[in-house]
Formats: sequence, structure tokens, C-alpha cells
Amino acid sequence: MPNTDYTPWYVSPKRPCQLSDFDTEPPSKGQSTESELEDHLVDMGEKLDKLQSTLHAAKTRGLLVVFQGMDTSGKDGVIRSVFTHVSPLGVRAEAFGVPTDLESRHDFLWRIHAKAPARGEMVIFNRSHYEDVLVTRVRGMIDEETCQQRYNNILHFESLLHNAGISVLKCYLHISKSEQKKRLQARLDDPRKHWKLQPSDFDDRELWPQFTQAYEEALSATSTPESPWYVVPADSKPYRDSFVAGLIVQTLENMKLKTPKPTFDLSKVKLT
Ligand code: AMP
Ligand code: MG
Repeated sequence: MPNTDYTPWYVSPKRPCQLSDFDTEPPSKGQSTESELEDHLVDMGEKLDKLQSTLHAAKTRGLLVVFQGMDTSGKDGVIRSVFTHVSPLGVRAEAFGVPTDLESRHDFLWRIHAKAPARGEMVIFNRSHYEDVLVTRVRGMIDEETCQQRYNNILHFESLLHNAGISVLKCYLHISKSEQKKRLQARLDDPRKHWKLQPSDFDDRELWPQFTQAYEEALSATSTPESPWYVVPADSKPYRDSFVAGLIVQTLENMKLKTPKPTFDLSKVKLT
């Protein structure tokens, strides 16, 4: 897993994305055991902590990690697992729900841009500007023309971030419909999880094919080499977490970050 080639899970902008071409289960070849995945996650978490520290010190680059996926796909869970080893000073997580009255009177990127990372920062989005071409589209809140315009707005926005040194890494957590059923049932069965349930979770499940199509189009339209989409197999939680942790580590390593040199002559310091 550490030096994984993630290309098979990369959404190529060159051809239309078909989610059925991607497995929701971990690959059967060379499968790791649960304890190997857990060890890998700890290793990656520790690496992530060090890389984040350098990112913060260098202030030359920033990272935005976007998580999208159907209800119960594990957006909250993956954030908890992957970032437990990172200093809380080093990351900021932002969640996006139904826009407030003020937000919906602005352009759809207004609330998003306000939460984007600065150079030196790592920010995680639990849902994002992609909701504005997904749920809004499936529920008929925007028409086809607006949706196409928004894809272009998103491409320009992410390219603006890229030009400012901010990388955008996008993870679609891919679960099967049967796995979602199990997870919704588990939430129904556990009173401590009832607060997580909303009527829309059940309505959206009925619209699974429409959401799948909206995701396929959005991923195809907005995956670029600079701001790639990856389809993460997410039926297995340990595999999902390990996969995402490795992918973020690789993205940060590719930045070739360097700790800045001291701005004054340390040899002249005399500690008394
Ligand atoms: P949760 O992530 O479970 O807290 O749910 C957040 C809800 O907000 C989901 O049902 C999303 O579809 C919805 N949501 C997020 N962003 C938007 C948006 N831009 N327009 C409409 N609904 C949204
Ligand atoms: Mg929810």
C-alpha cells in the first residue's frame, strides 16, 4: 500500500466515467489483512503529521482534500481515522450542509472560497461545491445549462487555487447500494446514531441511479491532472481509510516540500 500506484482509481478526464467499472470492494489480488491495514494507517498517519508540519513551516503550498459520496459512504469516518495522528493545529475540517438563506443568495462558490486553504494549510471538506452539481441537479433545483456552467466555474475555481499553490485532491467514497442498506439499518438499530438520520437519506436512496449518473458526469467533467478525482473502494472501512491516508501522503510527498532555512545566523546565538 505505501508505494501504491493509484492510477487505476483515478478518473481519467479523457473518457466518460462509469462507476460500475470501479469496485466498491478492495482488490482481491494481494489483499492485506485487517491488522496490516491498521498498521499501514498508523504509519501513514505519522507521515502525514510530519508532512503537515513541513507544509505549515514552508508556507509555499496548501492542500484541500474533498470528500464526496452517497449517504453512509464514510465521509465522517474516514476524516476521523485518517487525521487522528495529525496535530489539531495542523488541519481544519469544514462541512457543508444545505445553504443558509444568505449563502443561497450568493454565487455557489462564495461559501466554499471563504473556507479554502491558504498556503501552509491543509483543509478537509466534508461535502463541498460538488453538492451544487449533484443534489441540486438530481432534485431539479438547477437546469442542465446551469449545471454545465457550474462545471466550468468549478474548473476555473480549482485552477485558480492550483495557480496559487493550493492542490485539490478529490475522493469519491464508492459504496454499493447493498452496503448502504446495511449501514442505514445499523443506524436505525442504534439509538446513538439516530441523530445522523434525515428523511432525505431515505429519499436519496430511492434516487440511487440518478445520483450515480450525476456523480459520473460531475467526476468526468471536473477530474484534471492538477485536481484529480479518485474513486475510493469504500465498502471496507479499514481499506478505505488506509487507501485515503496513502493517497494524501503521496500527494504531499509529490509537493517536495522543504523546511525553510533560518532567516538569521544561528551560530551567533549564545544561550545564557
Ligand atoms: P450531512 O452531510 O449528513 O450533514 O447532510 C448535509 C445535507 O446537506 C445533505 O443532504 C446534502 O445533500 C445537503 N447539501 C449540502 N450542500 C448542499 C447544497 N449546495 N445544496 C443543497 N443541499 C446541500
Ligand atoms: Mg447524512
